[in-house]
Amino acid sequence: MKSSEIQILDKKFREYIPEDVINNKVLELAERINSDFAGKEVIFVGVLNGSFIFAADLFRRIRLRARITFIKLASYAGTSSTGEIRELIGWNEDLKGKSVIIIEDIVDTGVTLEHTVDNLIIRNVKEISIVTLLLKPEAYGKKINIDYTGFEIPNEFVVGYGLDYNGEGRNLPSVYTLVK
Ligand code: 5GP
Repeated sequence: MKSSEIQILDKKFREYIPEDVINNKVLELAERINSDFAGKEVIFVGVLNGSFIFAADLFRRIRLRARITFIKLASYAGTSSTGEIRELIGWNEDLKGKSVIIIEDIVDTGVTLEHTVDNLIIRNVKEISIVTLLLKPEAYGKKINIDYTGFEIPNEFVVGYGLDYNGEGRNLPSVYTLVK
């Protein structure tokens, strides 16, 4: 196994986006949001589980009047999406009339994102923006505009920085890609 490779359960992964590159990008995204939303009050909605580390790092850099809440959805089993969304923790904050920023760890097919956006629309929020650390443009099949994207990546399975493989690997500070 090469030095940049790691083993998680039955699979090998290779370092793909190093920790310092991620940290710089998170800062850059936060600064763009701070400037675009200057003078506004915003509510961030983090999509659990995967986004919790990105959400924490991003939110710490936000200099606006801001709140954060989380919803918990699941659509992945192993290394592929089931296409079906289960809501494990729902909506408990009154979002009516608010400026909401959805925080996603990764947008793949966009099914999860669409589900989240639909849920915000019926809650009569004032405006919806989206920030995602990672986007797989080749897999993304929705028309919803993503306002802030950290990195566009190929259609490969990744772990680390909050993202898991069967529950493991979330604590890795870098993002790793599957070695086939
Ligand atoms: P989508 O609904 O866009 O197809 O998938 C979004 C969700 O699937 C993400 O929030 C994440 O939980 C999971 N996901 C998508 N791609 C990956 C990946 O490459 N690695 C991991 N660990 N999870 C992924």
